[in-house]
Amino acid sequence: MRPQALRVAQLRAQAGLLGPGAFAIIASMSEIVELLRSALSSGEGVLRLAPAWVPRSFLMPGGRLKLHPADLYALGAHRGGIDERWFSSTTNADNGPGTPDDEGLSYIVAANGAAGPRKVLLKTAVDEIGDEILGSDVMSTHGGWNVLCKFFDNLGPIPHHMHQDEEAAARVGRRGKPEAYYFPPQYNYKENNFAYTFMGLEPGTTKDDVWRCLERWNEGDNGILYHSKAYKLKPGTGWQIPAGVLHAPGSAVTYEPQVNSDVFGMFQSMVEGRYVPWDLLVKDVPPEHHQDLEYIIGMLDWEANVDPNFMANRHFEPHPVRPVDEMAEDGYSEAWVTYSTASYSAKELTVHPGRSVTIRDAAAYGTIVTQGRGQIGVWDVHTPAMIRFGELTADEYFVTAAAAGEGVRITNLSPDENLVMLKHFGPDNPDARALVR
Ligand SMILES: [Zn+2]
Repeated sequence: MRPQALRVAQLRAQAGLLGPGAFAIIASMSEIVELLRSALSSGEGVLRLAPAWVPRSFLMPGGRLKLHPADLYALGAHRGGIDERWFSSTTNADNGPGTPDDEGLSYIVAANGAAGPRKVLLKTAVDEIGDEILGSDVMSTHGGWNVLCKFFDNLGPIPHHMHQDEEAAARVGRRGKPEAYYFPPQYNYKENNFAYTFMGLEPGTTKDDVWRCLERWNEGDNGILYHSKAYKLKPGTGWQIPAGVLHAPGSAVTYEPQVNSDVFGMFQSMVEGRYVPWDLLVKDVPPEHHQDLEYIIGMLDWEANVDPNFMANRHFEPHPVRPVDEMAEDGYSEAWVTYSTASYSAKELTVHPGRSVTIRDAAAYGTIVTQGRGQIGVWDVHTPAMIRFGELTADEYFVTAAAAGEGVRITNLSPDENLVMLKHFGPDNPDARALVR
């Protein structure tokens, strides 16, 4: 089958549309678009998404994503435990051989009748009718949804690593990656093994120090953490990590908006007694530089790593979008939880018990409900207590640029409990521009 025909056949299977043959295949993309337009119309610009679960073979899952404990290894123990849930994703997981074609990608629940859900990839929707979802201005400037947002949930820490900047990533045909963290209190009822993150390098560290750590790679722990400093992770706050800066994320459940690229280099040879192969240091290094320590160390943003005001420059408390008193009178509070960069931004919206608000935003966004129950536009939403792998939830949605601009009515139907949702935005959100540093 031609690649295009194969792709369409896969899309048809996902959408629950049957029928082979070239003529039917050509007709099918218009069927899929029709299905999407019908979902946009019945959802009044708010699309329901199915959970996208992602395993990681080199980490131990933390068990706090509400996935049933019996389903943590639903994709096979050899593929690793499920420790990530990706949101509004148009990005494939880079999980090596054996990774399903659609791993990491979010599905829109385009219809859900007696015959079961009919699902279409959000990526297909953006590729086919991106103007109607993200807006024609975003499509012409960015060409798609260039952000990846996820929860990650580990039992212990991740090795000290960095993500290449645009220049270093371009040499391996990829994009550079800054990333941000926010620790949602609702998912952090338990800290797990190490709720501290080493970040950057202790001021005074020299390139020779890092050189010697890399030389010691095969002698057990290479000691890179002796040259760094760990910060206690505080629920309800976050960090912004530019490309080229080392970090070893701790065991807090982390909401992580980032540029949609999977470049990285691990600088720590052993974590919690487990060996990290050199391959993971040079995964995104051109082959001729795989043993070139000067090149490898040159990928670090040295000044940013040894910044003596690291915390002051990178740690972020929530920033209210309006005066707190005024919002409280209107029955809600909303704050930026990820800001300072043009690459992405995120807000946390809290609607008070029994209250209803209409919130406008200048750009399309994805959202995950972290607490409570109520309505988002036409949708009944609630936070799940426990999710079986493969089941739908009523906690994740995508709001088109047009619906965001008109305003979405959000109602908290609980008399007692807040309705809380996190909202992730792509690059260059006009509402977040004033906060870019
Ligand atoms: Zn990272």
